[in-house]
Amino acid sequence: MSQLFAESRVPRAARTARGVDIALVVYRPIAKLDVDRLVLHAAELLTCRGPQSGIHGAALRAVETITDGALAIQGERIVAVGTSSDIIAAYAAPDIVDAAGKLVTPGLVDPHSHLLYGGTRHEEYESKVTQRAPETPMEGGIRYTARKTREASDGALIGQALGDLDVMLAHGTTTLEAKTGYGLEQDEELRLLRLTAGLKHPLQVVPTYLALHVLPHEYARRRQAYLEQAMAALPEACKLAPYCDVSCDPGSFTFDECLQVGEAARALGMKIRVHADQHGDARGALLAARLQASSADHLDYASDEGLRAMAHAGSVATLLPGVTLHLCEMTPRFEGAVLGPAEKPFMPLVARRAIEAGTVVALSTDYNPGSCPTPSMQMVMQLAARLYRLGYAETWNMCTLNAARALDLGRDRGSLEPGKRADIVIWSVATHGMVINRFGVNLADTVMASGKVVARSGRLV
Ligand SMILES: [Zn+2]
Repeated sequence: MSQLFAESRVPRAARTARGVDIALVVYRPIAKLDVDRLVLHAAELLTCRGPQSGIHGAALRAVETITDGALAIQGERIVAVGTSSDIIAAYAAPDIVDAAGKLVTPGLVDPHSHLLYGGTRHEEYESKVTQRAPETPMEGGIRYTARKTREASDGALIGQALGDLDVMLAHGTTTLEAKTGYGLEQDEELRLLRLTAGLKHPLQVVPTYLALHVLPHEYARRRQAYLEQAMAALPEACKLAPYCDVSCDPGSFTFDECLQVGEAARALGMKIRVHADQHGDARGALLAARLQASSADHLDYASDEGLRAMAHAGSVATLLPGVTLHLCEMTPRFEGAVLGPAEKPFMPLVARRAIEAGTVVALSTDYNPGSCPTPSMQMVMQLAARLYRLGYAETWNMCTLNAARALDLGRDRGSLEPGKRADIVIWSVATHGMVINRFGVNLADTVMASGKVVARSGRLV
């Protein structure tokens, strides 16, 4: 590994008019460099190395592994990656983490969540699963969560969010995108954004202002007035978040409405994310391409034309298998005593179509109380393989480097490479396939965020 060795001084006499006589250039270890921490003897070290722009096409099916792998860490950065013998020869550290028998990977990146919300939605969920009407009518849906969120104090929302971040970190997620969306009224959306932007936690949170989620009923006849309010909040929102999100979906907002707000956000320097085509083709993928969105998410009904346009524009396709599972979209419905068709039996094709269109594909939880209450990216990986029929390498690439790319962070994290943030997970299993093959338990053993150990044996330290 050339980065672990320095070129020995070549004697001046050996230099010729032709330059250095290559035969005389020898490499030997220089004095060991002192660093803060070494991780040694990983049974398998999964680098997830790839271009900063993300991995697409056939390249998704490969992922680099190093047997008896090791890392050197200085401060919050990785300084070297290689075999244990290479690292031991070149680096010394006061803190040695022994990863013998274990898998070592980059920290997982979750690029779509709605972290702050009030209330739960478990009561309405039972009637969805059973297709039985509740005995007593009950409120539900996004507007119910918005009411419960409005009723929740700042302290209650922050306390719940910090607890959720603890769980995510202990399960191996080291970077999370967190969007608002349960305010609906813009002053409330801005409250949620201020709280999100102010969170202090070792799991790094990237805030997004969800300007258009669903239309409050009272604006049914005043849609443009609602758009004007959303745009009026942007000068404040852009101080708190790098991203503005719009929902381009048959049940939410149209292409033109999202374009209006998206362009206003871009004019203020915000980058764009799109909830696209979840319940039908609203041309959300095309909108994402038009706005050069960092990512468009859901994409259940996105057209091939839209996916190709996203690939061309560099917009990541972020898929959310937890939503598909939780909403029983691939499960046949009861039709009396027999089974009817599933709502979205085509979902496995969504991932294949996005890959074949050439998009960089990422995976995410969409953590929220209604459509996906799991905070675990491990669960998302396990579901993605099963529901989309993805291979192990595809799944890992989509939750590490490609997920970082969906947050425009491909240069800084998402893989184990010198110079990147030392966000690292040591797993209780020996190979990356085992993380996907097993499911239902936390397999993250030790988690490091920015070079510091933040969880051991699945618990925060
Ligand atoms: Zn969402």
